[in-house]
Amino acid sequence: MADSTHHKSIVYGAKWCSFCNALVELLDSLGVAYEYKNVDKKANEREMLKQTGGAYLIPTFVIGDDVVQNPSTEKVKELVKVTEKTKKNSQPTKEVHDSIMIGAGPAALSAAIYTTREEIETVLYEKGAIGGLAAITDWVDNYPGFPEGLSGMDLSEALRKQAERFGAEIRLGEVMNIEDKGVLKKLTTTDGDLYAKTVLIATGSDYKRLGIPGEDTYYGRGVHFCATCDGAFYKDKRLVVVGGGNSAAQEAVFLTRFATKIDMLVRSDKLRASEILQQELEKNSDKITIHYNTTTDEIVGGDTLVTKVVGTDKKAKKQVEFETDGVFIFIGLKPNTQFLQDTAIELDEIGMIKTNSELETSIPGVFCAGDVRSGATMQIASATGEGATAALMIRKYLEEYERKHG
Ligand SMILES: Cc1cc2nc3c(=O)[nH]c(=O)nc-3n(C[C@H](O)[C@H](O)[C@H](O)COP(=O)(O)OP(=O)(O)OC[C@H]3O[C@@H](n4cnc5c(N)ncnc54)[C@H](O)[C@@H]3O)c2cc1C
Repeated sequence: MADSTHHKSIVYGAKWCSFCNALVELLDSLGVAYEYKNVDKKANEREMLKQTGGAYLIPTFVIGDDVVQNPSTEKVKELVKVTEKTKKNSQPTKEVHDSIMIGAGPAALSAAIYTTREEIETVLYEKGAIGGLAAITDWVDNYPGFPEGLSGMDLSEALRKQAERFGAEIRLGEVMNIEDKGVLKKLTTTDGDLYAKTVLIATGSDYKRLGIPGEDTYYGRGVHFCATCDGAFYKDKRLVVVGGGNSAAQEAVFLTRFATKIDMLVRSDKLRASEILQQELEKNSDKITIHYNTTTDEIVGGDTLVTKVVGTDKKAKKQVEFETDGVFIFIGLKPNTQFLQDTAIELDEIGMIKTNSELETSIPGVFCAGDVRSGATMQIASATGEGATAALMIRKYLEEYERKHG
């Protein structure tokens, strides 16, 4: 690896952290030398991470005097000063692809397996971790064909390898806009403008926030949205988990590996989680206490770390406080469609993408699959199934395209 800067670069990460793996991959692809510190394995490296002055978050990237956490691809390129060089080298003329897929989660990776296997040239853009939400899911028990279950990371890696075997190109970057230019679609990306005959939007969803005082202040310093990413920082500590659905239940159970005590704050008088997950919570009742009818109103802390969560017991109509070292918030997901707000792509009332029965959006040639699609069932098996269907529809569209435009 060539060192493209005169600065010493350090990556703080852990093997199980998909965003860390994505950062390392990006630095390797840019030829940037770095020292890797595994905070999971070595307590002194965890201590060093704390001393960078950033939050308790991985990946943390240190280059010269800059400390960035969970940085975007664009930010990393800006810091290692290769943006202009990369753009000049890779964008000589108008770049046109048969298919561009936005996202590299289970839906897009499955679609790419199908398109590339049929020799439809395909580029995927991924702004976070390859494998999407599946990559940061600790254990997947319900994906067909794996009787013992498998880790989300192993499933993501397998999907990625299979897509790459047939020739899919996965680029780390973000798509910011789509315009219908008639025959071609124009995409604004972190690598500049690209053109495609077909597009698949498979951007999935992101965690919802509570919007309460302290949530932003202590983000990464005690406030987290991903247990598999940040749970290991809470070995032998107390935690609060907010939410009562499947994700909250699954993540609370996962966090019992580390925490000694977990207070789970549920706004309503019952859990929305499935029966199986409720049984799992019950099995861990020595560590998990569920507080029903309890709102989460404020996250309180000192200069750097969270110390307690203030809520309201709606039944008793009184303020309640939970001493804690960290808060994990799982109150649902919102679709990743903000970048489509000013486009001709039709969204439903909650911002999910509307499609017809062929998974085509309101722009012909632009398809959609997975969690971001209006009516999606938010499961990996459905996302991979929709990815396969979308790929077949892309093939059909391209056959017609070739007939009309050569
Ligand atoms: C905690 C948790 C546990 C879960 N457990 C299970 C389970 O046990 N079984 C199960 O079947 N499902 C589970 N799920 C749901 C499952 O993870 C999703 O249904 C599945 O990942 C959806 O796949 P997708 O490809 O549609 O989207 P995602 O996996 O969300 O992937 C979308 C990708 O698009 C990228 N992206 C977004 N916008 C852009 C952009 N503008 N440019 C470039 N890239 C972009 C994102 O970074 C992301 O990587 C779980 C989800 C969570 C949150």
